[in-house]
Amino acid sequence: MKFVYGPVPSRRLGRSLGIDPLPSKTCNYQCIYCQLGKTTCFTNRRSNFYPKEEIISEIKTAIELNEDNIDYVTFVGSGEPTLYKDLKELIQYAKKISNKPICVITNGSLLNDEGVVDALLLSNVVLPSLDAGDELLFKKVNRPHPSLKFEKIIQGFIDFRKNFRGKFWIEIMLMKEINDSRNQLKNLKEKIDLIQPDRIDINVPIRPPTEKWVKIPDKQILSRLNEIFIECNCINFPEEGTFLTFSSDFEKELLSVIKRHPLRQEQIIMNFSSTILSENHLKQLLYNLESERKIKRKIYNNQIFWMLY
Ligand code: SF4
Repeated sequence: MKFVYGPVPSRRLGRSLGIDPLPSKTCNYQCIYCQLGKTTCFTNRRSNFYPKEEIISEIKTAIELNEDNIDYVTFVGSGEPTLYKDLKELIQYAKKISNKPICVITNGSLLNDEGVVDALLLSNVVLPSLDAGDELLFKKVNRPHPSLKFEKIIQGFIDFRKNFRGKFWIEIMLMKEINDSRNQLKNLKEKIDLIQPDRIDINVPIRPPTEKWVKIPDKQILSRLNEIFIECNCINFPEEGTFLTFSSDFEKELLSVIKRHPLRQEQIIMNFSSTILSENHLKQLLYNLESERKIKRKIYNNQIFWMLY
């Protein structure tokens, strides 16, 4: 499948069927921590990057096949999914054929855009990210498209939250000596207090980031977080569990997941090992794909991650 992947295990959503309507990697941010690598299509123009009929046809097949195995249908892109112009129609279609809740994972930059708001109001959960409490840090961390302005984005968050009846969970990516000082966190908390999300999730870069100098904060940060955020969820542990595959074609299924979601080697082995594919056999298949330059490995945090070449 080209636009649908998983279901994959998600820390917050259980088993999530991913819908990815964008070419890799299309975004209006170039975050220093992005796990998808550098933004190759840097745009703030909403567009139908692929015909919606093709995406709808895959959504139909995937939901029919997986309805009993999923907890959420999640729009999450090889970039920023709200850049897909007819996102509203994709969400409407998924709601029509399934009673599973719809989630949209977004950077939140377009929550002030009428078309995006219209689409997202139809969903059940919106998970926007917010990593900075002021324009300067926002530019340093997210490296946004020049047409995006921090205060306007924050106003978009505030207004959207007021009108949205679903769950609104903000995710913060916390990085060592980049946005983890007491002042920076207090600034961010001030903005979050204006927004009033249902939940705050604090994440750390557990997968290889775009910029090598991005690091996981030291554990001592936890007391600072507890003091400033009081109620937050720290989710800095790797996902457990397996992801479902549509076929027994190892290469096809692996590439479809790691295109959007670099995986730890042990997670790949746990998922694909069977009587036919032993651990050693799987490692050999990974090395073969590496030598064919289809995938590449990255050592990060003393673990091997595999990602698209
Ligand atoms: S982390 Fe998300 S918002 Fe940031 S560059 Fe990557 S895809 Fe875009």
